[in-house]
Amino acid sequence: MFLLYSAPPDLTVHLFSSMTLSHEKEEVEDNTDIIMEGALIARDRVGVQDFVLLDSHTSEAAFLNNLRKRYQENLIYTYIGTLLVSVNPYKELDIYTVTQMQLYRGVNFFELPPHLYAIADNAYRVMCSEYNNHFILISGESGAGKTEASKKILQYYAVTCPTTEQLQVVRDRLLLSNPVLEAFGNAKTLRNDNSSRFGKYMDIQFDFKGAPVGGHILSYLIEKSRVVHQNHGERNFHIFYQLLEGGEKDLLSWLGLERNPQKYAYLVQGRCAKVFSINDKNDWKIVRKAFSIIDFTEKDLEHLFGIVASVLHLGNIQFEEDSNGHAIIRNGTQIKWISKLLGVHLSILQEALTHRKIEARSEEVLSPLNVDLAFYARDAVAKAIYGRTFTWLVNKINGSLANKDSTRKTVIGLLDIYGFEVLDTNSFEQFCINYCNEKLQQLLIEMTLKAEQEEYEMEGIEWEPIPYFNNKIICDLVEQKHKGIISILDEECLRPGEATDLSFLEKLEEKVGDHAHFVTRKLADQKTRKSIDWVDFRLLHYAGEVTYCAVGFLEKNNDLLYRNLKEVLCNSKNGIVRECFLLSELDSRRRPETVATQFKNSLMSLIEILMSKEPSYVRCIKPNENKEPGKFDDCLIRHQVKYLGLMEHLRVRRAGFAYRRKYEHFLQRTKIFIRFPKTLFATEDAFEIRKHLLVSRLQAKYKGRLGKRDYQKKRKAAIKLEACWR
Ligand code: ATP
Ligand code: MG
Repeated sequence: MFLLYSAPPDLTVHLFSSMTLSHEKEEVEDNTDIIMEGALIARDRVGVQDFVLLDSHTSEAAFLNNLRKRYQENLIYTYIGTLLVSVNPYKELDIYTVTQMQLYRGVNFFELPPHLYAIADNAYRVMCSEYNNHFILISGESGAGKTEASKKILQYYAVTCPTTEQLQVVRDRLLLSNPVLEAFGNAKTLRNDNSSRFGKYMDIQFDFKGAPVGGHILSYLIEKSRVVHQNHGERNFHIFYQLLEGGEKDLLSWLGLERNPQKYAYLVQGRCAKVFSINDKNDWKIVRKAFSIIDFTEKDLEHLFGIVASVLHLGNIQFEEDSNGHAIIRNGTQIKWISKLLGVHLSILQEALTHRKIEARSEEVLSPLNVDLAFYARDAVAKAIYGRTFTWLVNKINGSLANKDSTRKTVIGLLDIYGFEVLDTNSFEQFCINYCNEKLQQLLIEMTLKAEQEEYEMEGIEWEPIPYFNNKIICDLVEQKHKGIISILDEECLRPGEATDLSFLEKLEEKVGDHAHFVTRKLADQKTRKSIDWVDFRLLHYAGEVTYCAVGFLEKNNDLLYRNLKEVLCNSKNGIVRECFLLSELDSRRRPETVATQFKNSLMSLIEILMSKEPSYVRCIKPNENKEPGKFDDCLIRHQVKYLGLMEHLRVRRAGFAYRRKYEHFLQRTKIFIRFPKTLFATEDAFEIRKHLLVSRLQAKYKGRLGKRDYQKKRKAAIKLEACWR
C-alpha cells in the first residue's frame, strides 16, 4: 500500500532545471535565453539523464539515440526514474574517485548526474531513516559489468560509511573477500575475461549508526565442469594460473609444481593460458594479502594450495589398459604428489582411481574400471574437491565477516550472479545459468511492472494497462513440479542403467513438446523451421533462443562420486578435504538431491530473501561483442533493451507515480505534524490512514488559521486530492 505522488515529467524538468540553477539566480535572470539555448545544445549533445524526460518518450529509436549520445560522451549511466541503466565503457573512467564518492554522499537522488553511487547512497539513506532492509539487484548478460558495479558499490560503502578503528578490519575483510572469491570462482570465457562462474549474494550488515559491522555471503552453483574442461579460447579458474605465475619458488617446489601452465592438461585445453588483460602475478599478490587479512592461518593455506596443486596433478594422470582391459595408472609421479598433498594413502588412492566398490548381497566387491571409466573417476574427484573447497572458502570468509554482537542490524544485499549466456555449445551449466536469469527477470517483473500496475488498479486509480512479456511461463516450463524440465530430468536420473540423455530428450518431447517456448528436432520444422541437431533441445528464453546439447545432462545432474573415492577423501589428512567430505555422508542411505533441484531450491530461497527487502535495480548493458571501448553496437543493444523490458519500464514510469511511500512510513514520518488518533498507528489499513489524512487536512482549514480566500483555495485542493485518492 503506497502513498503516491504524481510528478508529471515536464514538471520534473522544470523542478530539476530550477534546482540546478537556483544558486546562480541573479545572473540567470538577465541571461535566461542564452542559458536555455545552451541547455538545449548541451541536451542535444549529451542526451537526457533520465529517460523519463525524453520528448518522444515511448519510441525505441529515441531511447537508443539517447543511450548512444551519452555513451559517446562517456556518460555510461542513465536513469529510468530510480532504475539505473549502465553501459559497459570497457575503459577506465575518472568517475570512481574518493572525491566523487564524497560528492554523492547524502545528496538527493536527482541532484547529481546518474551514478551507481547515487543508487548506493539512496538505499543507504532510506535504510538508515526507515530502519529497513534493502537489496541492489544488478543484472545483465555476461560481460555487461555486473561484478564491476557490485565492487564499486561495496567500495562506496567502505569509503563513505562511518567507521571506527575496530570496524576497519570488517571493512577490509568485506573488500578483500572479492579478490579471493574471484580467484577461485571467476575465469576467462569468450564473452568476458573475468566471468563470474558462480552466483553471489552478499549482505552487508549495518549497526544503528549506519556503520558496516559484518557481512554474509551466499554462493550459488559454481561451474565445476570448468576444472576439467574448457572450450577453445577459455581458461580454467584464475587461481591455477595465479599460483603458477606468482607463487613463491619454495611454495611451488613444495607443491611439486612447475611454473609453466602448458605442463598441465587441465590448463591447456582452451589454448590461452596467457591473457593480455589479466596480470596473474599481480593478482596473486592481492589474493595472498587478502588471505592474511581474512584470517586464514598458515595451515589453512597449506591445505588450500595443496588442493589446488592436487587438482593439477590429477589432470596429468594418464591411464592405460592392462592385458585384461583394465585401467592402470601409467606414471606414478603425479599420484605420489596427490597422496602427499591430500594426506591419503598412496596404494588406497591408486586402487580407488582404478576400481569401483559395488555392494552385492551385503558384501562389498571391488570391480576394476576400464580406461574410460577411470578417466571419468579422475575428473569426478577433481570436480568434487574443487567444488566443495569453494563452498568451504565461502564459509571461511563468512566466519571472518560474522558479527557476534546480537543487537539488531539492517542489511543491504548485493546480488551479482552469472549473466545470461549463449555459447556455440550450451550444456547443463548454461541451462542452470539461464534459468537463474529467468528467475531474476521474473522477480523484477513481479516487483516492478506487475506489482505497480496492480497497485494502481487496487487503489482505483485510472490506469491504461501497459503490456509486457511475463516470463513466468518459461520459469514454469523449467521448474514446475512433475511437468517441468527439472522434474523430468530428475525422474530420468532415478533410472540408472536404463535412462540416457536421449531418453531424457524423448521424455521432454512427450511431456513439454507442445509448450510454446520449447523446441526439439522433431518439432523444429513445425515451430521455427530452423534445423536442430538430434541431441539438442531449444528453449525460447526471455532473452533469446538457446539451443542446449542434452549430452551430459544426466551425469551432471547426478554428480556422482564413486563410494570408494569418497571413503578415501573422508579419511584425508588435509584438514579442508576432511571438512568437505564427512564420514556421515557415507553412512547416509538417503539419495542426495540432484544438482538442478538443489539449485532450484536455493534460487527459491534467494527470491524469498529478496522479496522481503526494498529493491533498487541496476540494469547493465553490453555495448559490443569485442570488449571494445567506444563501440556502440545498435543491434546488440536494441536486443538487450528489448529483453530487459526497459521500454515497458519507461512507459510505466512515465504514466505512473514518481514518488511512492508506504502509508505506514508516511504515518511515522508525519505524526509530529498531524494529530492522528492513537489507534491509527496500530492499523496497516491503507484506507483508514488515507481517510484520517484527509480529515486532518480539512480540519486544519476549518480552524480559521487561514484567510478566507486561502481557505477556499486549499479546501478545493484537498477535495481534489481526496478525489484522486478515491
Ligand atoms: P559475467 O556475467 O560474465 O560475470 P559481468 O556482467 O559480471 O559478466 P564484469 O566482469 O563486471 O561483467 O565486466 C566485464 C569487464 O568489463 C570488466 O572486466 C571490465 O574490463 C569491463 N568493465 C565493466 N564495467 C566497467 C566500468 N564501470 N568501468 C570500466 N570497465 C568496466
Ligand atoms: Mg560477473
